Amino acid sequence: MRITVLAGGVGGSRFVRGVREECARRWPDGAGGTAASVTVVVNTGDDIWLSGVRLMPDFDSLLYSLAGVNDTERGWGRAGETERVSAELREWGVGWPWFTLGDLDLGTHLARTVWLREGLTPSQVGERLQRRWPLGVRLIPATDTEVDTHVRVADPEASDEREMHFQEWWTRYRATLPALAFRQQHIADARPAPGVAEAIADADLVLIAPSNPVVSIGTILAVPGIREALAATAAPVVGVSPIIGGKVVRGMADACLPAIGVETSAEGVGRHYGARAQGGLLDAWLVDETDAAAAASLTADGLPAASAPLWMHDLDTSAALAGASIDLGLGSTPAS
Ligand code: GDP
Ligand code: CA
Repeated sequence: MRITVLAGGVGGSRFVRGVREECARRWPDGAGGTAASVTVVVNTGDDIWLSGVRLMPDFDSLLYSLAGVNDTERGWGRAGETERVSAELREWGVGWPWFTLGDLDLGTHLARTVWLREGLTPSQVGERLQRRWPLGVRLIPATDTEVDTHVRVADPEASDEREMHFQEWWTRYRATLPALAFRQQHIADARPAPGVAEAIADADLVLIAPSNPVVSIGTILAVPGIREALAATAAPVVGVSPIIGGKVVRGMADACLPAIGVETSAEGVGRHYGARAQGGLLDAWLVDETDAAAAASLTADGLPAASAPLWMHDLDTSAALAGASIDLGLGSTPAS
């Protein structure tokens, strides 16, 4: 069984941990792991050069979470983190004072930057980072091109529009400045990283994690070649809703959806992704039990949808959700 997951950081990490666990239960390898192979295509739209180092926040969230070295209380970064270097950088006036880089995390960014400067690509760097911990899944950045997302906002001070890096909008302004548009730099010239198109083409099942549809999944899909690979794969493509009962579960995806004209609902995001049989992305869409009415209306309109508990509270609920999406995929008929 070969499963390929498209994922962002926080929702992506919880979901992928569930997929790894569910695969170990269904297809055990006899050594506590799984005989299934799981590849995760990771969003790189949040990436940024800051204080002289390259940050890849979603990749690192997945890396730390799957390695079990993440801070589970805060929900991001490393467990046992300290911020001494960040305090010094602030004294020097280097970097963004509102953006704290943990000391352990900075170790990762420094290592990554050293390897990039030595000429490795981001996906080669990603391979090296994964050697440190046996993750049980393979992580690949969606692209080696720097496609950092920028947000166009109405500038409250200048009665004008201006553009800022996604991280500034997200972290400094907590996504409170209304977003007019999202733009990924260099996106037209981007190519899928080595292995990404193959992982989609050769999969038995493709899962779209319950990640931010605009700045996580949207960026992955914007890389020329990835949408085409999804359209062409013989594997069923199943999406999981990041919206439950009209609300984002964690995070601020509701600040992103209006900018692309999509309603913050399981039905709205399902329609946005669309049915593969109708030129969209999905063979099936999974919504929460409280959104069963949306599932019925989407199914009637040609996007087969089902409902299951979508809250990932812990490893068991994440694994159950992964199991429901695997069942939905293996039971559904792909469009191509
Ligand atoms: P980010 O990169 O850290 O923003 O994380 P992602 O893009 O992977 O995921 C963010 C989205 O995950 C949020 O907008 C939520 O809607 C969704 N999410 C977080 N926790 C859950 C959960 O327990 N269940 C579901 N269905 N979605 C979740
Ligand atoms: Ca992210």
